[in-house]
Amino acid sequence: MWKTIILCAIVNLIIAENFRNYKVFRITPTTKAQVELLHQLSENHDFTFWKEPFVNMQADLMVASHKLSIFNRIMDESKISYKVFIEDIQTLIDQTIPVNQSTSFNFTSYHTLDEIYKNFDDLAEQYPDKVEVVVAGTTYERRQIKGVKVSFKPNNPGVFIEGGIHANEWISPATTMYVLHQLLTSNDPDIRELAERHNWYIFPVFNPDGYVYTHTTDRLWRKTREPHFPMCTGTDLNRNWGYKWNSGGASNFSCSEMYAGSGPFSTTEAMTMSNYINSISNKFYAYIVFHCYAQVLMFPYAYTTKKIKNYDEMYDIASKASASLKKRYGTEYQVGSIAEKAYISSGCTSDYMTDVLNKIDFVYELRDQGTYGYLLPPEQIIPTGQETMDSLITLFKEVKARGYPKNKIEA
Ligand SMILES: [Zn+2]
Repeated sequence: MWKTIILCAIVNLIIAENFRNYKVFRITPTTKAQVELLHQLSENHDFTFWKEPFVNMQADLMVASHKLSIFNRIMDESKISYKVFIEDIQTLIDQTIPVNQSTSFNFTSYHTLDEIYKNFDDLAEQYPDKVEVVVAGTTYERRQIKGVKVSFKPNNPGVFIEGGIHANEWISPATTMYVLHQLLTSNDPDIRELAERHNWYIFPVFNPDGYVYTHTTDRLWRKTREPHFPMCTGTDLNRNWGYKWNSGGASNFSCSEMYAGSGPFSTTEAMTMSNYINSISNKFYAYIVFHCYAQVLMFPYAYTTKKIKNYDEMYDIASKASASLKKRYGTEYQVGSIAEKAYISSGCTSDYMTDVLNKIDFVYELRDQGTYGYLLPPEQIIPTGQETMDSLITLFKEVKARGYPKNKIEA
């Protein structure tokens, strides 16, 4: 007992003090040389990009407290325009740490993996004829990768929702859970219509090891947790899928935040989830992904700026969905392909779903635009969930109006 209390105290101390006086700078490099210099800086772990640098675009860089003076000097000497955007990372982290440890699930706080999994069991008990808990497989650290299948009637075409592939993006699992609860409980006729004409495969935490690590040790951890001795730990789980693997916007270096892994599907998690998803591929036609942060509603491709064959249709659907998203709180989303609106990235789930499994696929970069970045306050979980739900209603109306699902879906 005392051992546990002391251990908890130590862990809390580590979390509490990890990022004190770390800052995020918003930087706008104007030349290739300046971008290159920023990339060189980020090879040191005291400099982490929250948003990658490109010429004449805003980048967000987190700088460790003990590197602030050298950072300021380098920026001034190289005449790169920059300003402090987040003053103290730790203050924001403290605001996102779950406070309620009650047994009931809510959306006023972020939740641990155990709380999310417990809620699956509660929902399955509460809605035994509608909710089924699914274990897709296990992670490197032998945790279960759990989700739920929600079905209101047999023979419905399926929608798959992916959350939490990047561990530090807590608003992603939170929004996924919000959508799940709305589908089950809302009385809104539009939500009922959307919910009840689909089967739902919902996995809020694709990267459970990473997610647990963000709760116990490093709130800003992004990758999986397998070690690459003698180098660094973890793979970017959204660079490890076996389609156009490591063909751009990914790294061969295990210490990189975008490490592609040692080969396609080298991570236990990507292998596990792809096996599971392949096994139910004939049951779903649409794939929705939640990331943060940027406020962009995107669609493939990620690996190339080449346009997907139904680009105009996808653009139109995303535009209408983002217009609906804006109505409630005025939240502005941009629209476009992943490669256009974020950056080129390869080995992502979205391109795999599109070209290998022939699904229609949309990727949300949820709130915000950098004021809090990965550390969105819990007060924004419900508004984010509400406006995202608004957009999903329109998105699926538009998808339906265009004749999807176009292939036969098995029940
Ligand atoms: Zn992400």
